[in-house]
Formats: sequence, structure tokens, C-alpha cells
Amino acid sequence: MKLENKVAIVTGAASGIGKAIAIIYAKEGAKVVVADINIEAAQAVVSEITADNGAATAIVADVAKQTDVDNLIDTTVKTYGTLDILVNNAGIMDNFVPAGDLTDELWEKVFGVNVTGPMRTIRKAMPIFLAKKKGVIVNTASIGGLQGSRAGAAYTASKFAVVGLTKNIGFQYALSGIRCNAIAPGGVNTNIGKTINNPDKFGMERATSGSANNPRMGEPMEIANVALFLASDDSSFVNGTVITADSGWTAY
Ligand code: NAD
Repeated sequence: MKLENKVAIVTGAASGIGKAIAIIYAKEGAKVVVADINIEAAQAVVSEITADNGAATAIVADVAKQTDVDNLIDTTVKTYGTLDILVNNAGIMDNFVPAGDLTDELWEKVFGVNVTGPMRTIRKAMPIFLAKKKGVIVNTASIGGLQGSRAGAAYTASKFAVVGLTKNIGFQYALSGIRCNAIAPGGVNTNIGKTINNPDKFGMERATSGSANNPRMGEPMEIANVALFLASDDSSFVNGTVITADSGWTAY
């Protein structure tokens, strides 16, 4: 098993990519904290893992709230004694709103979850990793964090920020035994589409104008396999970088 006795937090783990990461980490021997705003769905993921003889616990956590982040890390350490792997996966979309129509509220909401959340979980986890001289951070970015128009302005800017945060941490803490990488998924079949409840017509047309070039949609487990690689010692020399998993869409 690749993650035997490791303690991992996965945020946004009640659905989609996060759920698949939680399941595969548990199968590989990790004790997994399934963190999400949707506690019922998080508990269902825990039941699935424990039914398969895995170890997991659900913690309700809105990553945009400092108090929830503090509670998430503190409760993890109380429950399992330490933290080895932090997966910042929770993220929300932005209804494809272009820059000219952005509200401060939407910008702050998207940045709160997609950027400030990961910064806070990392800030809180860092003393634990530094004390052990070991730790792994995996951030779910997006090809929207590498390319200009896969979503609206706020989502795009937020995922570019995640990539920057990843590279900054990867380099700065490289001598402290800490690795930080990101995954940039292309289109993946999850529930995130349900959060697009009022798409901006112009923004969506511009953002989806290259969709015909997408070879295919991915499945959450295809991203989770990359997250397993990045969390395990198989990727011991991989740090401060982004792995794209998009069936080749962005290679066009
Ligand atoms: P999803 O909607 O299926 O799952 C996201 C989960 O995050 C949900 O369980 C939701 O309750 C939770 N969540 C939302 N806000 C939260 C918050 N503030 N705090 C804690 N949890 C919260 O979506 P997904 O597609 O699995 O998305 C996971 C990540 O993958 C996101 O960061 C997303 O931006 C990224 N991503 C997805 C795709 C895709 O095509 N699905 C592509 C690129 C990147």
C-alpha cells in the first residue's frame, strides 16, 4: 500500500474528485478526513470507506471560514495524532461571468473558497509539517489555471492563484521536506456543473468556444490516481509543479 498509516485531509471530499481521492487514499492505507460543507454526503463517503475496511472520519468544514479550518486541522490531529497529506480540493465555479460583469461579491466568494481556503489550511498545517520535516500538499487547480478562458474571470484568476501558491510553497519549503504540487484537470464528470445555476451567456460562449477540441471528459478516479501519485513517495522528486490531466485537450 502506498499510503500506509498516513493521515490525510481531503477538502471537498463529499463529491466528485475529492470523493474519489478520499476513497483511493483509504484503499492505499491512509486514515482519511473527509472534509466538506455537506456533512451528510461526507458521512456517506465515510460509510463507503469503512464498509471496505478503510479508516475515515467526516468533519464539516467550510474552507472559506478560518474557524472551520482551525477546527478541521485541530480535530484531525486529535483524532489521528498527526497530519501527513493535505489535499486542497474544494472549489466552486463562477457562472462564467466575464470581467466586465463581475461583482465584488462573486469575486470574493470564489477567491474565498478556491484561494483563501487553501492558503489557510496550508498555513495551519505548516507547523505540523515543519516539526516532522515531512509533509505533502496537493492542490486541485484546473486547466482554467493554466489557460485563459475555460471559465469566468474570477474562477480563472483564482486557479492561476492556486498554481502560483503551489509553486511558491514548493520552492520555499523544498529544504524542509515538504512537497507541494497541483493537478490541473480538464473536464471531469462531477457535480460541479450543478453549481452553474445562472450562466452568463457571453462568458459561457467565450469559455466553451474551444470545447469541440476536448478529446473526452474524464472520470473522478482518473484525477484521484494523479493525486495518489503526488501524495505518495512515488513522486518524491516532483515538487512545485502542476500535472495536467485532460486527455490532451490543452495540448491542442
Ligand atoms: P463537485 O461539485 O462534485 O465537488 C466539490 C465538493 O466541494 C462538494 O462536495 C462541495 O460540497 C464541496 N465544497 C464546495 N464549497 C466548499 C467549501 N467552501 N468548503 C468545503 N467544501 C466545499 O466538484 P468537483 O468537480 O469534484 O470539484 C473539485 C475540484 O476540482 C474543484 O476545486 C474544481 O475547481 C476542480 N476542477 C474540476 C473540474 C471538473 O471538470 N469537474 C475541472 C477542473 C478543476
